[in-house]
Amino acid sequence: MGNEWIRRDAAVVWHGFTQMGAYAANSPLVIDRAEGRELIDVDGRCYLDAISSLWVNTLGHRVPELDAALVAQVDKVAHSTMLGNGNTVVIELAEALAGVVPVDAPHFLFAADGAVAVEQALKIAFQYWVNRGVEGRTQYLALGDAYHGDTIGSLSLGDGGVFSAVFDPLCFPVVRTPGYADPGWAAKACAAVESRASELAAVVIEPLVQGASGMLCAEAADVRALGETCRAHGVLLICDEVATGFGRTGTLFASEQCGLRPDLLCLGKGITGGYLAMSATVTSGEVFDAFLGCDLGPQTFFHGHSYGGNALAAAVALEHLRLIEDWDVLAHVRARAGQLAALLEERIAPLSGVAAVRQRGLMVGVELAPPGPGLRWGRRVCAGAVARGVLLRPLGDVVVVMPPLTTTEEEIVRIIDALDASVREVTGS
Ligand SMILES: *Cc1c(COP(=O)(O)O)cnc(C)c1O
Repeated sequence: MGNEWIRRDAAVVWHGFTQMGAYAANSPLVIDRAEGRELIDVDGRCYLDAISSLWVNTLGHRVPELDAALVAQVDKVAHSTMLGNGNTVVIELAEALAGVVPVDAPHFLFAADGAVAVEQALKIAFQYWVNRGVEGRTQYLALGDAYHGDTIGSLSLGDGGVFSAVFDPLCFPVVRTPGYADPGWAAKACAAVESRASELAAVVIEPLVQGASGMLCAEAADVRALGETCRAHGVLLICDEVATGFGRTGTLFASEQCGLRPDLLCLGKGITGGYLAMSATVTSGEVFDAFLGCDLGPQTFFHGHSYGGNALAAAVALEHLRLIEDWDVLAHVRARAGQLAALLEERIAPLSGVAAVRQRGLMVGVELAPPGPGLRWGRRVCAGAVARGVLLRPLGDVVVVMPPLTTTEEEIVRIIDALDASVREVTGS
């Protein structure tokens, strides 16, 4: 049955970040449904979703409360445009988010994808200076190993590497200083901000963890130092919390741990608990105010997306925020993160095939140490875990472990058991 679904899939679907010529031969899972944190394929096999469906899922699948919020909203309205008009549930969501985001006097511009939240932040930062009559602040500082999405603007901020090199001619240049892999990254970024402040519209960072480049981690104090330097030199700070937001690192937002109050904050992925496509660009009151002017005048931000502020997504996101609070999810994340850290140190880090283990909360990267290039250890270790009923996916030779925030003590042990066995099998350690 699975093979027939894969054949139909490969005949008509184009999968992102996937070589379709090899897709069918790579034993893809075809998921039919889910229960809790288990995904169930067309043959009825269960897989623990240890990558949170590529980092979006927070409370598990088919959460009765989220399902109910979605159904209740269907009975009202699924979607109405936010361009020039409002919608009650979107207003309620923005009010609820305003109470928890680390941004002063926040305003919310909703969209559907993380990359678009970043794209919007870039355009807002650029026009902010134009609206204020300040010339020359037209560039962005981004870090080495950064990833901010796949649209042209967000791709320009990213430190692409081989996969996106083909698009280099389409991208705009940015000021680039080293990423979190360099222990001196913060001092270098601060020095660049100090010397080039008058050219910079904004500094863009992934606070605490550079996710897509392999869970590279920063010290909170270093991130804070960069934020303070931006503030001192009047450069806008854009925090991309598309991956780190909504509890993943143990606080609702990673910016909080770093003591940051960014001017712009990008949200996505976990905002609806992994249910529906939604993202948001959050701006401070000061940024927002720079866009006020006469009707249809040049201060206006002429940008918007058809599905920005979708009502179904907003209803789920609102209920999701309530559940994070009600269930004390952040305390649970910290407890499970502690357990995971202990097990990683005891059983995974000592393996000879493992070079490094990096973790912030329930965001983990296990970097393998293949003795030569082209061995695809990351892929093979993850395939081994999948064969053991634990869904993992690598970033090159970094195995990402990112279970849903409600993951249990037993599930953490299951993930470590599968990872341990698979690393030993593939690397012979
Ligand atoms: C995933 C991600 C994005 C892009 O979000 P999409 O919804 O995939 O467009 C942007 N920034 C960071 C830090 C991410 O992890």
